[in-house]
Amino acid sequence: MVVVGGGSAGCVAAARLSSAGRLRVLLVEAGPDYPDMGQLPEDVADPSAPTTDHDWGFASEPDPSGRVIGLPRGRLMGGCSATNGAFFVRGWPQDYDGWAAAGNPGWSFAELLPSLRDLESDADVDDEWHGRTGPVPVHRTPYDQLTPLQRAFVDSASAAGHPWVPDHNHPGAIGIGALPRNVRDGLRMSAALTHLTPARDRPNLTVRAGTVVDRVELSGAAAVGVRLADGELVEADRVLLAAGAYGSPAILLRSGIGPPAELAQHGIDVRATLPGVGVGLADHSLVAVDLPTAPGFTGPRFQTMLTMRSSYADPDVPPDLHLFPAGPFDDPASPTGGVFAVVTGLLSPSSRGRVRLRSADPGDPPRIDAAYLRTDDDVRRMVEATRHARLLARTPPLADLVRGDEIAPGPAVPDDDDALAASITARVDSYHHPVGTCAMGARPDAGAVVDSTGAVHGIDGLWVADASVMPTLPAANTNATAMLIGDRIASWLLTG
Ligand SMILES: Cc1cc2nc3c(=O)[nH]c(=O)nc-3n(C[C@H](O)[C@H](O)[C@H](O)COP(=O)(O)OP(=O)(O)OC[C@H]3O[C@@H](n4cnc5c(N)ncnc54)[C@H](O)[C@@H]3O)c2cc1C
Repeated sequence: MVVVGGGSAGCVAAARLSSAGRLRVLLVEAGPDYPDMGQLPEDVADPSAPTTDHDWGFASEPDPSGRVIGLPRGRLMGGCSATNGAFFVRGWPQDYDGWAAAGNPGWSFAELLPSLRDLESDADVDDEWHGRTGPVPVHRTPYDQLTPLQRAFVDSASAAGHPWVPDHNHPGAIGIGALPRNVRDGLRMSAALTHLTPARDRPNLTVRAGTVVDRVELSGAAAVGVRLADGELVEADRVLLAAGAYGSPAILLRSGIGPPAELAQHGIDVRATLPGVGVGLADHSLVAVDLPTAPGFTGPRFQTMLTMRSSYADPDVPPDLHLFPAGPFDDPASPTGGVFAVVTGLLSPSSRGRVRLRSADPGDPPRIDAAYLRTDDDVRRMVEATRHARLLARTPPLADLVRGDEIAPGPAVPDDDDALAASITARVDSYHHPVGTCAMGARPDAGAVVDSTGAVHGIDGLWVADASVMPTLPAANTNATAMLIGDRIASWLLTG
């Protein structure tokens, strides 16, 4: 069987599938592989901030004002787990329960909890919600070891009335607390390290890096292998796509699986009509309040996070906002040469975008309509988030670290709704959590691309297992859930 894409989900899936011994597994990854930990490029090893040195270089389609937003995606073994911020945060129980209630048996929080526990080795929390012996090391920085910026953020958030949260992965925890991070000994613990490394010596697992997959090869309505971008056919009785929320729908579309009108546009024969492929793209949007501070800091840039509900969120739903301090970073554009940000992320966007093909050529990047802040509701919530970020930045002790006028939105932008809305829609960025482009569900006519086991509707021998199958965005960063998906779908495939 072939696994396409060695990212967060693909590494976990390949490890799980090859654990059975009876399956021969080939893992194909477009980017480079660094099997020897000592050879990891410095930026890939260093977890202090995300890196984009191994990246696909995707960008959004221009928004109505012509603005283009960079949409980084890791292009190496480990995928985005090898380049990301290493926040290891689970979805809320209600997120997963919502998937199950929408017709996806097996995805309720209670059913997933054993896998969530098996995934991790939590160094700090020993309770019924956590695992102590799994492959992903999870650790929180204790309060007295936080950097001055991070500690000041915690204290200002506490002064603003937010409760202390000892464990952001505890069901229902909401407030300010240390970030659970998948970092060990100063190393970003990607899925390549946690899952692929221990499986590499298995005789039934082959890893092929630097190899781009063009499409799935079909015979009738069954997958029989993959066609590589250089034309080579790799035969396989089963294919599992784990190329991510932009990559997996693009491969399906090039294979003739998707909305017929779009396929026709690119001269691709329709092999299966699935109107939902690429549709329903959801991503957390991100906007920062940037502040000048002293330059010359070295050390971790992310350690704490505040989760909260805006005034528009119901009290019994997961939080709709993240706020976290980032930095300090050296920045010549800052009047002091140093900058930190209070970053805000919208966790429950109603805006939906879409992934389309630019052409049938696998070398062409997809056209990504990222659709940030397209609805009034999304803008309202982010305006409130920015106002709250400003409040925290003006509250000591965080205020004491600010060395001059706010850089963005800037002193010219008052705290009123219209001015803030204009500022944030002009500066909105991605929180890098795209999902939903091969959504899981029972009804293809309603947009579902895969069923609850990850099997592509209407095609034998073809599965998708990555962030693209999430039918809705969890109120959390998406790496842990992508890994969970790789594990669950691979397990069902083995037993199915
Ligand atoms: C800069 C950044 C920071 C982030 N920070 C965090 C964070 O701190 N915490 C968190 O939880 N989440 C974070 N995320 C999001 C999280 O990392 C992703 O949601 C998650 O990694 C997605 O996993 P995936 O398996 O779906 O896709 P990916 O990890 O993107 O894996 C897809 C893989 O498929 C390969 N591929 C794609 N197309 C092809 C093809 N045609 N042929 C062969 N191979 C192909 C890619 O190269 C890649 O290796 C961040 C993401 C980014 C980009």
